[in-house]
Amino acid sequence: MRPPSSSEVEAITMNIQRMDQAKLNIGIFNKLTLCVTALSLGNNIYTKLANPRDGIASSSVWKEALQSKNNVFWKKQRIWQWSLFGDGHNSNKDFGSYPNILNVTSAMREDFHPVVKLPLRKKQKRSKKHALTENNEDPSCLALEHTKMNETYNYIIKDFTQNNDDNSLLMEGGKKVPQLLSTREEALAYAKLPKQSKLFDVGKYDEDRRGMYTSSLFSNGSSQRTIHVGLDIGGPSGTAVHAFERGIVHSAGYNAGVGDYGNVIVIEHHLRNDMKVYALYGHLSSKSIQGRFPGQKIKRGQSIGYLGNTAENGGWTGTHLHFQLAVHPPATHDMPGAVTLSDRHEALMEYVDPRYVLGELY
Ligand SMILES: [Zn+2]
Repeated sequence: MRPPSSSEVEAITMNIQRMDQAKLNIGIFNKLTLCVTALSLGNNIYTKLANPRDGIASSSVWKEALQSKNNVFWKKQRIWQWSLFGDGHNSNKDFGSYPNILNVTSAMREDFHPVVKLPLRKKQKRSKKHALTENNEDPSCLALEHTKMNETYNYIIKDFTQNNDDNSLLMEGGKKVPQLLSTREEALAYAKLPKQSKLFDVGKYDEDRRGMYTSSLFSNGSSQRTIHVGLDIGGPSGTAVHAFERGIVHSAGYNAGVGDYGNVIVIEHHLRNDMKVYALYGHLSSKSIQGRFPGQKIKRGQSIGYLGNTAENGGWTGTHLHFQLAVHPPATHDMPGAVTLSDRHEALMEYVDPRYVLGELY
């Protein structure tokens, strides 16, 4: 057998090197695959461990993340936030998709008093055709008939996203009216009109409401605050608003800006699991804040106020309650009801999904 020529040696060496490189590549590939598998498995377990009705990672993960806002752990959690909250456009998600920082269990929720008693659906169920006709009366919002849960309740779910033609208008009594009236005179005149509608509706949390928040109150430098971080319950002015749980008054007052809360109460609620939460009840009547003082005791179910009319609710023609939950005490009777897209992720961790209190309204 002749010894290999130098060119053959070179070729063999090259092949061995290639094989080594291939092995190395396979090694890296395997390691990567292992990592990805482990991550996705972890994610799966992480998701599956949590009761979806009580929120992903309802245990201590999110609480810890919140408590250690400035450390590395918090930063790591941002990855989860992104994966949970998507890219930020119209990403209002199903009940249970948002972190349940307050650890509200379904048993606790069942004991909460309804904040607004929604009307029961009449025994004779409306036909789909009828419901659709009703929806078409309201071009400013894509009104969806509520079919998911609580079918016995009679209210519609609104959609204020940019998918709609005109978010600045509202249909009332057969004509278009602006959602927001900018002068005191207009608001007073509108408030004096006979009540047009007794319908109740729900406006979503984490909804990108472009075209709706047009007043200067909602501009933040070059970017507009369009992401709604509370939940709205629309109904006739004068509708009673109740405290969902016991607590004390944190603050109350009148926020006068165009599009602001008007009369507003913030209650520090004391939950059965020893956690505290700050609930903002906005757009109330003037009477609601009379005689309110910080530290005043509030019972569960107590009527704390009434839906304010357009002249006392910040100028909104569609009278409604803005209900917002905060994990930390606000500085005063105020919370940003809408935030910019860039503040969204952080805001959703502070102003948690109100459905953990109100139930699966949509
Ligand atoms: Zn609102």
